Formats: sequence, structure tokens, C-alpha cells
Amino acid sequence: MTRDADVLIVGAGPVGAAFALALARGPAGAELAITLVESQPPAALADTAMLDRRALALNERSRCLLDRIGAWPEALARRACPYRSMAVWDRASTGHVSFDCAEIHQPRLGHIVAQPALIAALGEAVRAQPNIRFLCPQTMTRIERLPGGGCAAELNDERICAPLLVAADGPRSPLREHFGFTAQHWDPGQLALVAVLRTERAHGHCARQWFAPAGPLAFLPLHDEDGDTRCVAIVWSQEQAVAERLHALSDDALCRELEIASEHALGALALHGARALVPLGQHHADNYVMPGIALLGDAAHAIHPLAGQGVNLGLADAEVLAEEVARARQRGLGVADAGALARYQRRRRPENLAMLAAMRGFKTLFGREDLPSALVRAAGMQWFDRVDPLKRLVMRAAAGAA
Ligand SMILES: Cc1cc2nc3c(=O)[nH]c(=O)nc-3n(C[C@H](O)[C@H](O)[C@H](O)COP(=O)(O)OP(=O)(O)OC[C@H]3O[C@@H](n4cnc5c(N)ncnc54)[C@H](O)[C@@H]3O)c2cc1C
Repeated sequence: MTRDADVLIVGAGPVGAAFALALARGPAGAELAITLVESQPPAALADTAMLDRRALALNERSRCLLDRIGAWPEALARRACPYRSMAVWDRASTGHVSFDCAEIHQPRLGHIVAQPALIAALGEAVRAQPNIRFLCPQTMTRIERLPGGGCAAELNDERICAPLLVAADGPRSPLREHFGFTAQHWDPGQLALVAVLRTERAHGHCARQWFAPAGPLAFLPLHDEDGDTRCVAIVWSQEQAVAERLHALSDDALCRELEIASEHALGALALHGARALVPLGQHHADNYVMPGIALLGDAAHAIHPLAGQGVNLGLADAEVLAEEVARARQRGLGVADAGALARYQRRRRPENLAMLAAMRGFKTLFGREDLPSALVRAAGMQWFDRVDPLKRLVMRAAAGAA
């Protein structure tokens, strides 16, 4: 059977699902037929426990978008842990920078949420949205461009034709490869060890990060169902061999290493659940669009998690593309209008590229162990910590505040 859709979105990760909702609930939504295809089965509710390994730092801009598209329900808001301050240390020097939401007159800098909890909230909102057809799980066996424009996708038992295909299929993006989008890749040769820890002391709603030449360690504050704030999600980036050695340690030995690396800031540590190793790498597609096709989120750009910005950049892509498609429709143009797609790319590339470049810069800056580099870093961080206007600017950008 062949069906038509206006917009076919492949990938219902946080970015694809948010785009579907932003479009469906936007000014042109009522007249659009939107199909969202996801290959993975929906996360079972049991997988959405607060203390999941992958935690995402959502800034205020992202939270406001989720709220507007009906994906910030009370249940997710309760589980999300607000963070009000950030502290960054350079372990190879005396460098230290701290940020507090009061300095930019905000109630918080953002929220930490467990990724499955966010995906579950988005999935529920998508299912409740009448003009989104959600095919999940569904395998796409073939996709091709149509001579008259648009694409045709073959799924298990149907063929879908749409003038606009949106690839939100994650960092490896089979669609990016299939359609020949070129991209610049950067492999820092590192893996991230991710886990959740119980901590002796409460985190005080502070996100902590220690930079060391071997790689950064982040402690992201979480709370459990009872509101206990003695737990954090960690992302520890290390050279591959070191990460594999850490991953193979016993729970006790790993926690002792983490206590040293975190300078005992939260006291004794204990692992909560399993740990995982995640490959790290950055890429940036040279173009986000070609006629009738747009890349979104990690399919277009993936960023080192030390920034905690991957999902924030992707959600901003989703918001902007939905705005441009809706504007084109309101002007009587097609959903795949070339001008609208070009504007999406123009509006999103500068911010995404700047963030990717900053992460490479951090890796280089903190990757040097020699004394002169450490002294320059310490002086630079102390200077930055004292220059209020600059610090406020950086904080407002990271928090996604206008
Ligand atoms: C260790 C680690 C820590 C991180 N921490 C943070 C953080 O603190 N803050 C932050 O903002 N970001 C963080 N990120 C980045 C964040 O996880 C990603 O930016 C985000 O998940 C990207 O969302 P996405 O929807 O673009 O892609 P994904 O989440 O990868 O989703 C893609 C979806 O597409 C589906 N799919 C793929 N191919 C097909 C197909 N052929 N058909 C149908 N469906 C398909 C997949 O099943 C998947 O559900 C972190 C990343 C890592 C690795």
C-alpha cells in the first residue's frame, strides 16, 4: 500500500520527536500529515527510572520548548533535577571557575534529566497528537528520491511518499550516508565511562567538572524518587586504553579512582547500577539540507559530551526547522521550499559550529600538562572568574537564556 505524508521524519530520539511535535502543534500543523518512524521499540516504562546512566543537561531554552510542545509533563518535571550552580576545576593547576544562577538573575541554570525519561515523555506526547502517525517500532527497508522531488520510503508493509524527509537518525545517521551528505569528523580517540553514583554528601544542585590532561570528569546532579540529592550521573572521558582499564575495575576500585579524580568533593562514592563505555567523537555535516531532505540533531552534528549541549543544539534545530516549514506553508509554499530549508541551515550552522569549535579548543587547552601551560590556564581561569560581564555572557549562552 502507498500512503502520502507531507513530512516523513526518521528517528524518534529526543530531536526527531520534538521536531514532530513542534511542527504538529505549530501554526501550520493542523493541515499537515506527519509520519514519524522509529526502529527501536518504545522504552518500557520500567526503563525510565530516574537513575538511568545517560543523563542530559537541558538548558532553559530546551525546557521551554518541551513545555510548549506538551513534553514537559508534571511527572518529568518532578524527576528532573534543577542545577543552580556549576564549578569547574583544572586538576593540573589552581585554576577554578564557578557559576551561580543568581549572577544572571535566573532561578536555575538548567535541569538534569535521565534520557529514557525524556524519551518516554516525548513518546507519550507524540502518541496523543492526532496529526502525527507514529510508526514504532518499524524498519525501513529502502528509501529513494523521487524524480519529481521528495522521497519514497519502503517500510515492512507499506510505502510512504513525502515531499520532505527529515533525518533525525542519530550520530551514525544511515540516511546522511545514503544520500551522500559529506561531513567533517573529529575523533579525539577517547571513550566516555558513564555511570550513576550514590554520594556521601548531597550535591547541593551543583554540576561539577574536573579537567585533567587525560580528559574531563563531570558530576551531574540527580535526585531519586524520594528527592534524595545524594546521587550524580558521571561522564568520564579518557583515552581508550585508560577508559577500558577503568571499566574493567571492580566497583570498589573504580569508586576509589573516582574519589581521587573528584578530589573527594562529595565524599565516599558507591556505584548505582551498571556502568557503560560510550565512544566519543564529533562531526559536522557540510550541509544540513539538500532538495527535499533536512538533517537534524546528531545526524547533522555531534558534539563532545563535556559541553552537555548535544541535545540542546538538536532541540534548537528542531524548533527552527519547524518554524521555517510553518512559515513556508503560511506563505502558500511547499513544506520542502528550498528557501525555507536554506534559512534553517543559515540560522543553525553558526551556533552549532561555534560550540563544536569550542569543544576542540577545550580539549587542546586542557590536554597539556607542562608547567607553563598549567600556569597560563590557572591565570586565565582566575581572570575569567573575576570578569563579571564576560562570565555572565557565557552563563547566559550556556543556560540558553536570551
Ligand atoms: C556519554 C554522553 C553523554 C551525553 N550527555 C549529554 C548532556 O549532558 N546534554 C546534552 O545535551 N547532550 C548530551 N549528549 C548528547 C545527546 O545524547 C545527543 O545529542 C542526543 O541524544 C541526540 O539526539 P538525536 O535525537 O539527534 O539522536 P539520537 O538520540 O541518537 O536518536 C536517533 C534515533 O533514530 C533512530 N533511528 C536510527 N536509524 C533509524 C532508522 N533507519 N529508522 C528508524 N529509526 C532510526 C534511533 O533508534 C534513535 O532512536 C551526550 C552524549 C553522550 C554519548
